[in-house]
Amino acid sequence: MTDLRDVLRVRPGDTRLADVDPRSTPGLPEGRAGKHAKQWSRDEVAAISQELAAYQEKLFASAKEGATTKRVLLLLQAMDCGGKDGTVRAVTQGLSPAGIKAVSFGPPTDEERSHDFLWRIRRALPGAGYVGVFNRSHYEDVLVVRVHNLVGEDVWSQRYDLINEFEAEQAADGLTIVKVMLHISRAEQKERLLARLDDPTKHWKYNPGDLTERSLWDEYQQAYEDALNRCSTAAAPWYVVPADRKWYRNWAVATLLRHAFADIDPQYPQPDFDVAAERAKLLEAD
Ligand code: ADP
Repeated sequence: MTDLRDVLRVRPGDTRLADVDPRSTPGLPEGRAGKHAKQWSRDEVAAISQELAAYQEKLFASAKEGATTKRVLLLLQAMDCGGKDGTVRAVTQGLSPAGIKAVSFGPPTDEERSHDFLWRIRRALPGAGYVGVFNRSHYEDVLVVRVHNLVGEDVWSQRYDLINEFEAEQAADGLTIVKVMLHISRAEQKERLLARLDDPTKHWKYNPGDLTERSLWDEYQQAYEDALNRCSTAAAPWYVVPADRKWYRNWAVATLLRHAFADIDPQYPQPDFDVAAERAKLLEAD
């Protein structure tokens, strides 16, 4: 079976977003794109999520005794309506909330702004044994910040190297980072924005500022392309997941996570007590 990571990984210098069709389904098992694709994906993602839950428990257990620094971070970036929330819901459905640390990043607060851009990120990283989810991330500091000139080019252009150093340092300290860009088309974004406007229960998700961001589509695509190409490293590769089809998107991200956990292969720790003796004591007592 092909490793989906090889199919979706960004090869530095090589990736042009315009060449990735957001409706495509790369790496999908043979014969799965047909009319039962949605149901197949729902079942498959639920099954993968159960596997992730089993891995999560072992990871958590192995960190309990301080025996490991291992931890996992799913980092999601996307244009508005790219499906970050839906993806998180789907892939974490079977996991224990107690072992997940999910964080969303909005515009920095005054306090956050008074520190360097990685300060709030470091504080939000999952501890040993945890699975972290970043809804947006330090990449906003080379995306929205660049597109809106919130700092000068002399500042943001230095950040790619700083990000690479930071991620390499974290990877060396036990963090497996799965960085995913959910890649939607401009036409799909329009459909999804319209759907939000047409549904009163979705109005809370709509922000008139979304249209300003949409008008800067090309600038964002360029900023994404640079971030992907400059920050897809061996320690922390980027994956571009075509995301117009939600069923493919969920399957792809769940599968990437499964591969990450399989590499870690967490194990339950050995008990530091004599199991047989404890059992005998328990049976002897009332
Ligand atoms: P989402 O769109 O992810 O569901 P919000 O509607 O709260 O969540 O949007 C978060 C906003 O915060 C986005 O517009 C994003 O560009 C902005 N943001 C995140 N990080 C930064 C940053 N470092 N600097 C400026 N704006 C940021």
